[in-house]
Amino acid sequence: MNGNKVVTKCCICGREKTDQGWQYTFPANEPKNVYSHGFCSACYDVEVMKAKMRLAMPAMAVLR
Ligand SMILES: [Zn+2]
Repeated sequence: MNGNKVVTKCCICGREKTDQGWQYTFPANEPKNVYSHGFCSACYDVEVMKAKMRLAMPAMAVLR
């Protein structure tokens, strides 16, 4: 693995998952991190809510 670690980064707000939870970090600190993009807990809730709204009201699909 060459010491690289895989960091889960939220693709919405850009926070990264750390031992202390979801935090904003500075990419310059560890440029060799391998990123896996996903949703943090807060953004996941928002995405789930938007998905439900899209199912309920297709006309709101343009809402981002
Ligand atoms: Zn997020």
